[in-house]
Amino acid sequence: MRVRVPFGRRRLIGVVMEVADSSELAPERLRPVLEVLDPAPLLDPGALELIRWAADYYHHPIGQVLASALPKALRLGAGSIATEEYWTVTEAGAAALAAGELRRAPRQRALLELLLSLGGAATAPALEAHAPGWREGARALAARGLAARSARALAAASEPERARPAGPALLPEQRAAVEQVARAAGTFAAFLLEGITGSGKTEVYLELTAQTLALGRGVLVLVPEIGLTPQLVGRFRERFAAPLAVVHSALTDQERLGAWRAAWSGSARIVLGTRSAVFAPLRDLGLIVVDEEHDASFKQHEGALRYSARDLALVRAQRAHVPVLLGSATPSLETLHNVAAGRYARLRLSRRPGESQPPLLKLIDLRVSALEAGISTPAALAMERHLAADGQVLVFLNRRGYAPTLLCTACGWIAPCRECDARLTVHLAAQRLRCHHCGADAPLPARCPQCGFTVKAVGQGTERIESALATRFPGVPIVRLDRDVVRKRGDLEQVVRRMRSGEARILVGTQMVTKGHDFPNVTLVLVLNADQGLFSPDFRAPERLAQTIVQVAGRAGRGARAGEVLIQTEFPQHPLLVSLLAQGYDGFAQAALAERREAQWPPFSRLAAVRASAVTREAALGFLSEARAAAHAPPRGVRLLGPVPAAMAKRAGRYHAQLLLEGRERRPLHQFLDDWLPGVEALKSAQRVRWALDVDPLELF
Ligand SMILES: [Zn+2]
Ligand SMILES: [Zn+2]
Repeated sequence: MRVRVPFGRRRLIGVVMEVADSSELAPERLRPVLEVLDPAPLLDPGALELIRWAADYYHHPIGQVLASALPKALRLGAGSIATEEYWTVTEAGAAALAAGELRRAPRQRALLELLLSLGGAATAPALEAHAPGWREGARALAARGLAARSARALAAASEPERARPAGPALLPEQRAAVEQVARAAGTFAAFLLEGITGSGKTEVYLELTAQTLALGRGVLVLVPEIGLTPQLVGRFRERFAAPLAVVHSALTDQERLGAWRAAWSGSARIVLGTRSAVFAPLRDLGLIVVDEEHDASFKQHEGALRYSARDLALVRAQRAHVPVLLGSATPSLETLHNVAAGRYARLRLSRRPGESQPPLLKLIDLRVSALEAGISTPAALAMERHLAADGQVLVFLNRRGYAPTLLCTACGWIAPCRECDARLTVHLAAQRLRCHHCGADAPLPARCPQCGFTVKAVGQGTERIESALATRFPGVPIVRLDRDVVRKRGDLEQVVRRMRSGEARILVGTQMVTKGHDFPNVTLVLVLNADQGLFSPDFRAPERLAQTIVQVAGRAGRGARAGEVLIQTEFPQHPLLVSLLAQGYDGFAQAALAERREAQWPPFSRLAAVRASAVTREAALGFLSEARAAAHAPPRGVRLLGPVPAAMAKRAGRYHAQLLLEGRERRPLHQFLDDWLPGVEALKSAQRVRWALDVDPLELF
């Protein structure tokens, strides 16, 4: 429970972790709690145990772990957990509706009608379930005095379930997967649901959710940052009448608090959310699903507490004695290793429902095919063919902006970021030069600042590809999907809608296109540059590249038509591409795991990194050298590597460096961290840098 306590001269919010009837402190040194803010515990014993585990495993103060777990509003002491937001139609509202006013405000009118149909009042989660995006209308109604917002005690019981359409009949593989997970109800068991894109993993989640709800228990569904699409939320809402709590990073503090309350009180039996939802309170948790478990956004790689929500989901399931289902078309090598070791059971969905066929992958050798504005002749011909046959085309390039480099052809000047070891990206439509690492932003110069000659944009970004395609395919509607286009809520949905309706014929996009969206009429996928991931010092780069190619390829041919996937590369003989094309992701994963075993990288060893940044290179490296020296004699099986500067050493005006720790086994590594970290914290040089420990880092350089 939260309490308000005196802390020096201040008053702060604290969380009571334990109640004891004695203390080692003298009674006169103890100070009283000023106020108890919650009438009942915020976290159930299982969630509390998860927080203790995370503090221990990530070697992080438990107070800060709690701060990451609780919604900000609760941390700041706002509101009681036991009341919820409640909306009522006022007399003026009812009168206005009866008098036929609000004709010009159809959304406000619809919301009033909904409130009246629900008996004149409803909770925020109930409104969310019936009318997603209702809040704007509610605010407008409140401003006109037609509806009112208040707080009332939470109802513990869930709202009565209304009849909903049953799901489609499951295919035999789907049914087998559901039955196997359902048999594990009430015990801890981990499953990998490995299904090619379009094979109907979501249907398995929905059916298992239905069965878990029928047992009177709740379901936690974790999805990647970018995978929480209105389509997915819509499918859960369609199937279940029970209110759903949706948690993601774009929520306001009040919305986040509302979702938390709904889950805490049991009025929402399903929590659907991104990374931080792993800490959501849930009454009688019965099942955890982690969709796209390989996705890097499950790992928090900034800030102080760098946790993996996927790994915490497994710990939570284990503590709560419930099954956990990890879904992916391209499982992480860690997860495949756990399957091979017998820790996770593997469930496969090898078929797509209906008639849809897996896409056909082909390489285009850029050494022999001419490129025009980033697109090879065979690729352009294939686009023509698919467009003529009434198909849609998806063009993938993992680089936004117009061009990655602005160059002076006379003196060789390249527009640099002053704050980073990086070039500025040309954004032509906006007439800006921007740094994609620190956000630096400057006007686009027409002439070289060094010699006055005209400058030239070199290389391709999505913006440039979009305009090149508009020239090459005049009259064919094109949409783009990247972070420059998607700036506010609703932008993404609009692009997806224009593609799904067939209004747009070509989609140009970054990584954003690979996650979760269904484009049933896309018959051709074009990967413009596969080579960015082939040669990287990071041992995980090949895994990420293979996952991206398979995920992008999965967007093709999801309807009745077979798809074609063309990958442009200058390295068609590269073993990764060869194994991926010949044997699919499975074959690639086996080869990649063998390489990892040879090199003793994870999952065949354990890693932790101490990352430091400072205004000078010397301060960052100096601190890490002292930290290394403080490890007088690391135990057998634990190695310290570095310190080394980061691959992009200067970022946003600070120098970054890291010290890597590698352990053959988890236990000695963590034992070593326990012994070593207090000494590192005590170093004087630690005061002059920003540093953090990253346990199980996903990105190394
Ligand atoms: Zn110049
Ligand atoms: Zn920069």
